[in-house]
Amino acid sequence: MKTKIYLIIALLILPILSGANIPIDSTKTNQKKVFTVVLDAGHGGKDPGKYVAKTAEKDIALKVVQLLGKKLESHPNIKVIYTRTTDVFIGLDQRAAIANKAKADFFVSVHCNAAAATSAKGNETFVLGLHNNAANLEVVKRENSVIELEENYQEKYTGFDLNDPSSFATNLMVQEEYLDNSIEMGAMVQTNFQKDLKRKNRGVKQAGLAVLRLSYMPSVLIETGFLTNKEERNFLRSEAGQKKVAESIYDAILGYQQNRDINLFEVEEINSSAIAIEPVNEKAIYKVQISASSNKLEPQSYNFHKLPEISREKEGNIYRYFTGNFSSLKEATKLKATAVAKGYKSAFIVVYEDGVRRRL
Ligand SMILES: [Zn+2]
Repeated sequence: MKTKIYLIIALLILPILSGANIPIDSTKTNQKKVFTVVLDAGHGGKDPGKYVAKTAEKDIALKVVQLLGKKLESHPNIKVIYTRTTDVFIGLDQRAAIANKAKADFFVSVHCNAAAATSAKGNETFVLGLHNNAANLEVVKRENSVIELEENYQEKYTGFDLNDPSSFATNLMVQEEYLDNSIEMGAMVQTNFQKDLKRKNRGVKQAGLAVLRLSYMPSVLIETGFLTNKEERNFLRSEAGQKKVAESIYDAILGYQQNRDINLFEVEEINSSAIAIEPVNEKAIYKVQISASSNKLEPQSYNFHKLPEISREKEGNIYRYFTGNFSSLKEATKLKATAVAKGYKSAFIVVYEDGVRRRL
């Protein structure tokens, strides 16, 4: 009888003991996660975008996106979603909704530029921001003006002044979280254009673009060249030119995705080193981790979709942000569900025991 009881106890304890010696999810960290990218060919259908010398922005954007998508689809770890694959009109809110629904890792919108001066040339990539100079404002007006072609646009975009980026400020702080990643991708795109296409690098710029504002993930809007510049227009019209542009963007996305895999691995490593062996005790404190970012944000509720009791911890170059502070796991579980519903899809519960944090 006694032996039997010992045996049962041993069987119950064994998984806990053996689990404690293995770094958490060691197999998972080596497994590369699927990277979902949304490719958005600007304009379409009744909205040609910029139209110069029989060249429509919508056609070039679609061709570049198709070439780019085909190359990305050859990678098993990359999933490609298109906002359009034909010549159809899609609202800016719908484009963002497609990306949000797919819970994409990145949103890439492809466009062509235009200017009054035919000498204007080069490439620029936009990330979401509030600060516009006069030159950016022209791009903002042009790219946002598509909204006016949408049905019920006045109802859909209540409170948004298409020409005033500061009216897009709602939730902008939350999107700050994505800004570093957006800039990282933007810089890679710009460098590749400069290196591969020998183009003037007009830089990564911040602007209040609606399509970026509405998608909840890192995002860039790429102006692949000026249709008003004869040389660049001819290049963008040619199949060889479209291929080169697609390749430059492809290299940037691939580079970004590979960097992200390395970063994820590092974050998981930090997590696993903090595992405590003791089982959960009564003094345990539970919180919900909502994000880890290289951006330092004020740990205030308004920066995090109004989630309660925000706290911040620095670990290496990463800031971790938490919501809640409970002695009950049940409460933390409830708050985790709220955080997920508010868009923090990878939120998870952490427990602190004797000052050591570990992921549940
Ligand atoms: Zn455009």
